[in-house]
Amino acid sequence: GAVVELRDTGKAYGNVRALHGVNLSVHPGRVTCVLGDNGAGKSTLIKIISGLHQHTEGEVLVDGEPVRFSTPREALDAGIATVYQDLATVPLMPVWRNFFLGSEFTRGPWPVRRLDIDRMKKTADTELRNMGIVLDDLDQPIGTLSGGQRQCVAIARAVYFGARVLILDEPTAALGVKQSGVVLKYIAAARDRGLGVIFITHNPHHAYMVGDHFSVLRLGTLELSASRDQVSLEE
Ligand code: ADP
Ligand code: ADP
Repeated sequence: GAVVELRDTGKAYGNVRALHGVNLSVHPGRVTCVLGDNGAGKSTLIKIISGLHQHTEGEVLVDGEPVRFSTPREALDAGIATVYQDLATVPLMPVWRNFFLGSEFTRGPWPVRRLDIDRMKKTADTELRNMGIVLDDLDQPIGTLSGGQRQCVAIARAVYFGARVLILDEPTAALGVKQSGVVLKYIAAARDRGLGVIFITHNPHHAYMVGDHFSVLRLGTLELSASRDQVSLEE
């Protein structure tokens, strides 16, 4: 069944209705793409699922149980990790430190605080390699990597810290064709490891390359909700 489900979910900011009557589900090992123009409600949808805002209409269910996250911590504890486009990594910090960034907010495979630096570096190296990301120097500031590589490190980090649901906020928006391809490959890798992925994007081609389901928002409501076999991309 669905790990996260929105049922007639909506959100009003005062009298601005940002989201209304949205039905959407996220399944393990599947990618749900959310498309829509600026102002369509994509950020609001992410914020509701990741505990930054609360819905004002309908329901949010995790493993079939209604939830109302009042903090991001509660969403993380439910296994919901969000990779924000611009805030995924801290440029001046070494790659390995970025890998453990935010780990104090997650339960993690073990208490991360007790790891020494050598073990943290070794762990980051192993986990990045497991995801197919090979870097020769984990001491370099992550800002020296390409935008695509930085997104990939953030995805590998979420996988390692036990996310069941990965929310990706326009991970390819600032990237060129080649780097976008790299990130799409890691989205597929996360999906293949059984994560349910919410992929927010403006790019229908990117969505079609990895998506199992497509939800298009327009002015806060779903204009289209279709599975892969219901749509085709024609030039
Ligand atoms: P998108 O991410 O698709 O660009 P948003 O979720 O940011 O869309 O915005 C949806 C609508 O809600 C827009 O009309 C936006 O101006 C409004 N909105 C978003 N956040 C707030 C807020 N904190 N207060 C008031 N209105 C907001
Ligand atoms: P992004 O596209 O990076 O998600 P937005 O421009 O949608 O950023 O929103 C930036 C911030 O401003 C968000 O926290 C959003 O909730 C808030 N915001 C967006 N629209 C409005 C609005 N009309 N009134 C108040 N806050 C808003």
